[in-house]
Amino acid sequence: MAEIVNTLPFFYGNVTREEAESYLKQAGMGTGLYLLRQSRNYLGGFALSVSHSGRCYHYTIERQPNEMFAIAGGKSHRSPMDVIDYHSQEMDGLVCLLKKPCNRPKNMQPKVGPFEDLKEKLIREYVKQTWNLQGAALEQAIISQRPQLEKLISTTAHETMPWFHGPIAREDSEPRLQNGHRTNGKFLIRQRDQSGSYALCLLHEGLVMHYRIDRDQTGKLSIPDGKKFDTLWQLVEHYSYKPDGLLRVLTEPCPRPDGDTVLIGRLPLSRDLPGFGSAIQSVADGFFSRIRNAQSLLPGKKRRGSQRSNADNLNPYETRLGNEAAMPMDTEVYESPYADPDELRSSTVDRSHLMLEDGELGSGNFGTVIKGIYKMRKTEKQVAVKILKNDDNNASVREEMLREADVMQQLDNPYIVRMIGICEAENLMLVMELAELGPLHKFLQKNRQTSLKNITELVHQVSMGMKYLEEHNFVHRDLAARNVLLVTQHYAKISDFGLSKAVAEDQNYYKAKGHGKWPVKWYAPECINYFRFSSKSDVWSFGVLMWETFSYGQKPYKGMKGNDVMQMIEGGQRMDAPANCPPEMYELMRTCWTYKADERPGFSVVEPRLREYYYDIAQ
Ligand code: AMP
Repeated sequence: MAEIVNTLPFFYGNVTREEAESYLKQAGMGTGLYLLRQSRNYLGGFALSVSHSGRCYHYTIERQPNEMFAIAGGKSHRSPMDVIDYHSQEMDGLVCLLKKPCNRPKNMQPKVGPFEDLKEKLIREYVKQTWNLQGAALEQAIISQRPQLEKLISTTAHETMPWFHGPIAREDSEPRLQNGHRTNGKFLIRQRDQSGSYALCLLHEGLVMHYRIDRDQTGKLSIPDGKKFDTLWQLVEHYSYKPDGLLRVLTEPCPRPDGDTVLIGRLPLSRDLPGFGSAIQSVADGFFSRIRNAQSLLPGKKRRGSQRSNADNLNPYETRLGNEAAMPMDTEVYESPYADPDELRSSTVDRSHLMLEDGELGSGNFGTVIKGIYKMRKTEKQVAVKILKNDDNNASVREEMLREADVMQQLDNPYIVRMIGICEAENLMLVMELAELGPLHKFLQKNRQTSLKNITELVHQVSMGMKYLEEHNFVHRDLAARNVLLVTQHYAKISDFGLSKAVAEDQNYYKAKGHGKWPVKWYAPECINYFRFSSKSDVWSFGVLMWETFSYGQKPYKGMKGNDVMQMIEGGQRMDAPANCPPEMYELMRTCWTYKADERPGFSVVEPRLREYYYDIAQ
């Protein structure tokens, strides 16, 4: 939503109520003149400022848990823009109808709050240090998990701040404020109990005032009878520019005595401070040095790198994370096993290091896929082993499997099943990363309660893997929900590279010599008509995969023969939207099914579109 709202000419970003009023005044204060700004109290919320009869009125547009937006007590709408459209027709509790947008002055961009900047740095540092990632792996983790990471940082980052003193007693807070500079407005926040209530302690004319900060049933924080906030950050920011019931505004954070904090200027969130950028870095460093010292291993979770062995200490973030879904980076297949420089990269697997287990994971053209354990230098990894059946001794099947291995070996992306190596023993075996939850369509058929947010997250991950393939000039040629495997309910990987081809950079398509055993329902018209395969034809298949996914694993073009499907497509018809499919997602499918490959978007366009929609619904 943030991206869309940012493009509205009457959206001002993180400006205060007073700033909003001054913009409305500059524009003449006509009745019904309005502007939209970011809420400074609620994560993902907005505020609407309207002028009427020479006065300004402000309404909070809250983001509701069901991803809808509403002015408190009013009708819910799909977006803040819809709230505005509605109130230009209906007063419904507003002081007047919204008549005219008050657009930003020329060359003014929506204002970015200092927290946004800091949040960016904290997220990056958090991912870097928690999972020991860098480079592309770090970037991909942030892109795919941004909503979860933002929430985590927003609700915990106060622990980094010099003004947050943790669970100290009231009596202990007073000498801390009285020591050193006794500036009016010097303050700290202490934790009162485990239920999430705090106290704001403020120095005023040499005396310490204590204000309770309670948490209501919905988790919002407020001083009694005061404004409500989602985070302590926002509360401190608010009271640093406005007393709003306190004896005075907050001015100077009282440093913690433990020395691991940094005093950054007048206030951590005060605006326009010179040198704020380096202060942010210092805060981030302080925060993460504490995390570094306190990493722990959660059952079922894999922490990476050096932190993995340090299992005795408790990271305060882990308890919170424990309640949340595991992220892809928590699993051992996020990075290649060869990302560890101590593991020797090799395309062959020594049979004596491979143990096969009973029980089949699945079966395909080549034979069966079973679970195994691969003993590496430092670790033992669970793997999936594709075993070529020996019975018909068919040389061409063997060739095909080796070709698949050759393609897989060249790929290294978190959203693609990696090959660990080939093992020549009693059979030819392809050793791969294990994606234990199996094919996406089957998972969704069995788990109908999977949320749209979850589905969008997975589809977005597939688009990230496909974008990587496109960038590296590979065409998959068999992209379908059956060939997307799940590591966890929140982690998808593209598999089955049996038909995949590397394409020449200058030509960017692969021309098949003839028709084969093809999944025609997933194929673009140019594949069928001209045997021409490119990333654009993978985009067509991706549209079908999206359709399968949003219909919880149903068969596309159900009951139709391949020929009928081709006629339907040639006649300009496309599949209807799956039941309850978000319109934005159906629209994207239709774009993937653009007839002419030249006019069809590539994954470089599809992935950001999915990303934007995913962030919107997941915030
Ligand atoms: P395939 O021959 O690649 O189509 O694989 C056949 C079936 O084996 C798939 O549908 C999965 O159920 C299973 N399978 C293949 N690769 C893996 C893997 N890496 N991890 C877990 N299961 C797999």
